[in-house]
Amino acid sequence: MKPNARSTRWIQALLVALILVPVVATVAEEPQRVAERSEIDAKYLWATERIFPDNQAWEAAFADLEKKMPEVAACKGTLGKSADSLLKALKLQDTFEPQLEKVYVYTSLLSDQDTRDGTNQAMKQRSFSMFVKYGQEMSWFTPELTSIPFETIDSWMRENPDLALYRQYFDNVFRQKKYVLTPREEELIAMAGEVRSAPGKAYNFLSNADIKFPSITDENGNTVELDEQAFYKYMRSTDRRVRKDAYEAIVGTYANYRNTGAALLNGAVQNHIFSVKARGYDSCLQASLFGSNIPTAVYQTLVDTVNDNLPLLHRYQDIRKRVLKLDDGVHAYDLFAPLVEKQEIDYTYEDAVKVITDALGPLGDEYLGIMTKGFGSRWVDVYPNKGKRGGAYSSGTYLTEPFILMNYHGTFEDASTLAHEMGHSMHSYLSKKNQPYVYGDYDIFCAEVASTCNEIIFQNNVMDRTTDPRKKLFLLVEFLEGFRGTVFRQTMFSEFEQKIHEMAEAGQPLTADSMGAAYGEIMKKYYGPSYTHDDLVDNYWLRIPHFYYNFYVYKYSTSYCAATNIAARIMAGEPGAVDAYLSFLKGGSHKYPIDLLKGARVDMTSPKPYQDAMKLFEEMLDKTEEVLTQIGS
Ligand SMILES: [Zn+2]
Repeated sequence: MKPNARSTRWIQALLVALILVPVVATVAEEPQRVAERSEIDAKYLWATERIFPDNQAWEAAFADLEKKMPEVAACKGTLGKSADSLLKALKLQDTFEPQLEKVYVYTSLLSDQDTRDGTNQAMKQRSFSMFVKYGQEMSWFTPELTSIPFETIDSWMRENPDLALYRQYFDNVFRQKKYVLTPREEELIAMAGEVRSAPGKAYNFLSNADIKFPSITDENGNTVELDEQAFYKYMRSTDRRVRKDAYEAIVGTYANYRNTGAALLNGAVQNHIFSVKARGYDSCLQASLFGSNIPTAVYQTLVDTVNDNLPLLHRYQDIRKRVLKLDDGVHAYDLFAPLVEKQEIDYTYEDAVKVITDALGPLGDEYLGIMTKGFGSRWVDVYPNKGKRGGAYSSGTYLTEPFILMNYHGTFEDASTLAHEMGHSMHSYLSKKNQPYVYGDYDIFCAEVASTCNEIIFQNNVMDRTTDPRKKLFLLVEFLEGFRGTVFRQTMFSEFEQKIHEMAEAGQPLTADSMGAAYGEIMKKYYGPSYTHDDLVDNYWLRIPHFYYNFYVYKYSTSYCAATNIAARIMAGEPGAVDAYLSFLKGGSHKYPIDLLKGARVDMTSPKPYQDAMKLFEEMLDKTEEVLTQIGS
């Protein structure tokens, strides 16, 4: 069964949000005693009782939904009868779905606050099952809706203003219709679903379960077992021998499976090509961008502008080579190595809230007022506790507040993460407050803009107020690394993705050798003359799961560029910039992502936002060089 687009939209957004959540190091340097949740002051715990006062209230809501679901499903066969019957069906969904999401979110938050609690896990499972059931019950909806001629709906909308509210929604559903096939063809494609998902599933098992990495000796002479989580930890080691050993152990192990990996990735690419050919898309790229209605020119402009500015990344690597005294060049295992010793820039939670609030001052009273209320009314679950899920995220629904999970230890990175998650929460809050349910969520293309914008404003504010050159250098490098990792690196991955899709579309075989050669060429192009390429790097693509998602990672880069633009305008005090940004935050999905961003004065179809982002990177490089000279490094 094919679940309908509306009911699954939110849960897809949830799953994607979990992928996007930055991985925050939750392991403290010193082994600290982690508190039981019951020991933490209630003011640092999120206010789930405002969703449901207790589990009994949740049970009542759950039972109510079970009772009402057949009513919503009973609209089957009525949509095309009249404007009123269509409106009735839409309104029923707009009432039912937010309740369903609320029931789900309550259990999701409870289960994350203590993953050891069996009751919470069972409740979460039950609400998830209800979601799936609803999707199945409503699978008729989109096909029935799109079987009504659009002209009919259009005339109904002109007569009925309540129905006209759904114009953007209808436009979005009907624009996808041209790629929907006959019922029999759709059935055949659905029948192949299990087969088509096999490469991705097999890769998942390979990389998460079957593959075993060898041990290495760490900086202190201890034998440590490697896993995927340990990769970045050791890539940030100040001991080059440890970095090299860890890189060779992990990428070298993947390389042992290079033919299997190539066959699996080829399978995934062929799967995308199958969709393109079966449904009549122009290309894999166009098919992937179509979902968010993004023109392929946006993608191409990003890639072209990043390529034009590769000399900046080369310059950054020259600095890396010089400062770290890497006479044989920057190897792949040196790319993440810290350029400066870690600086203690610590914040208590209260300090962090204050600094974030001060930094975001230019966003004005409306924004600050809501944010301050959020901080003060327990949106945030602040500290780690026994059994709590790691990392950080923002989560909520149309009928709840946008809660934030943190594992706050008091570092600069934690404070930065808090600013980031608050950006998501404020975007959610303002969209829900200002949009009807049908447009209350924002598209994944826009999802990282508000969070990154907050993070950049926060980091700049801290940087401006830091006078100690070593601390300043640490912050500058944090920025450069964030930019490299998000804009350059994700665009580079994206370029590899495009390359292998084009190769396959042109009928060229995708093998470990052909993909390895493509990857190696792109690495050399990106990192430039100071970079020394090792043959092993040609196998690095094997450890990136995103290549199975079909053009996903470029969104990290576009979001980041949009956010730097908005942040720069706000920090420069450009007249009207704050209002333009607020209208974007309040916009939900009532327009397509590109149009919403245009409202925030960022035209993603032109090279300007990407060029401006590059200018900012260049300025930060200049400042870094200045401080390096100042401290004689
Ligand atoms: Zn985020």
